[in-house]
Amino acid sequence: MRTAVVVGAGIGGLAVAGALARSGWQVTVLERDDRVRAERTALILWPNAMRALDALGLAGGLDAIATPLPDSGVRRPDGQWLVQPRGVVGRGPVIVHREDLYDALVAGLGDRVEIRTGVTVRGVRADERERPAVSDGRTTYEGDVVVAADGIDSAVRRRLAPESTVVSSGCAAWRAVIPWYRVPPLNEGRPVVGETLGAGYRFVAAQLGQRGSSGGSTRGGVYWVATAAGAPRPEPPATQLALLRRWFAKWHPPIGDLLAATEPDDLVQQEVRELRPLPREYGFPAGPGGFALLGDAAHAMPHHLGQGACLALEDAATLGSVLRDAVPGGQVREAIAAYSRQRRPRAATVVRQTRRMSAVLQARGRLALRARDAALGTISPRLMGSAATAAAAWKPPA
Ligand SMILES: Cc1cc2nc3c(=O)[nH]c(=O)nc-3n(C[C@H](O)[C@H](O)[C@H](O)COP(=O)(O)OP(=O)(O)OC[C@H]3O[C@@H](n4cnc5c(N)ncnc54)[C@H](O)[C@@H]3O)c2cc1C
Repeated sequence: MRTAVVVGAGIGGLAVAGALARSGWQVTVLERDDRVRAERTALILWPNAMRALDALGLAGGLDAIATPLPDSGVRRPDGQWLVQPRGVVGRGPVIVHREDLYDALVAGLGDRVEIRTGVTVRGVRADERERPAVSDGRTTYEGDVVVAADGIDSAVRRRLAPESTVVSSGCAAWRAVIPWYRVPPLNEGRPVVGETLGAGYRFVAAQLGQRGSSGGSTRGGVYWVATAAGAPRPEPPATQLALLRRWFAKWHPPIGDLLAATEPDDLVQQEVRELRPLPREYGFPAGPGGFALLGDAAHAMPHHLGQGACLALEDAATLGSVLRDAVPGGQVREAIAAYSRQRRPRAATVVRQTRRMSAVLQARGRLALRARDAALGTISPRLMGSAATAAAAWKPPA
């Protein structure tokens, strides 16, 4: 029996565990938390993620939990258009509640996956003579393959790719899903969706499902993400919310109404961080198999293009595909090398585009802002267009 150990039960870990189990691998998932749980926020999935979910055999349930995201353009805080909406051509992005996505991924695990919660991986055994293994200091878990899906602070990556370090992206983000029953009548009945850019601040809002409708997400409401240049705030959530209301007080409707309808318990604050440089390799041979880095453990990036989880799903589909028929020994080692060859350049491209977006989004100071606003009408569609093209260009391996 081929065996795999997956470290981390996030989107990437759950997706790859299911993919391996469905092709006959016995999989153990190690999760440091006391249960498998998603954040109470939402997520944009671009067409590349939908293709990855197709390849993983998980797209079936997506319609029930996803809401299509219209092209909303980009506005200034006073409501003026920086970039007019252009309409979605072909398959556009969708928005899903993270808890719904986790439910779908867990439902796809089957009975060949054992999940061990409360296990924090701290040690890594990577040498040529033995099977790859990880340890929590008490128990050693070994397999033919070990997948590091343990997020941006990955203990496995720190050992295998120490050249890659976690740095701040210079901003903090706040997210919330306001449940429908608390969403006030907004925007004269039009969908609440859109992106607004100010000096060092950004606000994005989108609808999860429809008010009063049982279709769309089962955990519907309005999702918003606010980004502000600077460090995360140490104050309690109620004070953070008061600050957000102040920062965005003069922004166009319905931003103020959305913040007024948000409760401190809805808030999820996060320092935005990234990996610099990216690891040189995503695959590391050991014994008859090896290690693979996947998801944020491999390529954590700022959220400006909404591609982090999408790439984690691409990684999972790719690793599942190259390992599908591989047997431990030369074949698994070669499969891991092929995974690294396919994924490293792809991730580097998306990270490059995200960094260019960061520079545009975080422009501060009058001159930089004026230049940005003047240029945004041409830069952003081009950037967004090339990001969308790069996303659309990805195809799962045959
Ligand atoms: C504000 C914001 C908005 C975003 N919006 C989007 C979006 O719209 N679209 C999109 O595609 N992406 C988005 N992202 C990025 C996305 O959230 C991440 O890329 C994605 O969640 C990464 O998934 P992962 O499974 O690789 O890692 P994680 O979700 O970090 O999961 C890692 C798991 O490993 C566990 N773990 C960690 N260390 C250990 C250990 N030592 N031992 C055992 N277990 C461990 C953790 O508990 C966790 O369960 C956004 C990110 C932010 C910050």
